Amino acid sequence: MISLPNRDFLDTYIEDFIISSEKVAHVQVGNSAEHALLVLTKTGYSAIPVLDRKYRFRGLINTQIITDSILGMEHIEYERLPDIRVEEIMQTDFPLIKVDERFQKALDLLINQNFLCVVDDDGLFMGILTRRVILKQLKKKIYQDKNNQ
Ligand code: AMP
Repeated sequence: MISLPNRDFLDTYIEDFIISSEKVAHVQVGNSAEHALLVLTKTGYSAIPVLDRKYRFRGLINTQIITDSILGMEHIEYERLPDIRVEEIMQTDFPLIKVDERFQKALDLLINQNFLCVVDDDGLFMGILTRRVILKQLKKKIYQDKNNQ
């Protein structure tokens, strides 16, 4: 039987588990959809953040959004990619998490998202928190508790 995580686990701060911003592939406001598609394809990531020049989070872009934006009646209009700016098509209704939040909040949000973008009080992008990282910690905790029984 799996024992449920206790309060200590849920109260853990997320800060130590973030993939820091300098390691996160991203695009900037003003970049073309073509550039974003290149980054997504080369990195193999399903979605990446869109940041502004001040490194604030502005939205999220993924391959599906880009393909959708160039869907014609008969074919995919790849030739339009250089003329589309990422900010015209990016997803903006994406839940953010503050850097000083705890696992409880992250777990709630990661039910529906593969990863979360982490920001500070000024909206500056600090990095991402992935479902994989949180699940790893949860698994570690469950096995630790099991061994201590
Ligand atoms: P993972 O848990 O490593 O499979 O990552 C899940 C998703 O988080 C990826 O598909 C990306 O959308 C995003 N992600 C993870 N690591 C990075 C990174 N270094 N740069 C940008 N996005 C990332």
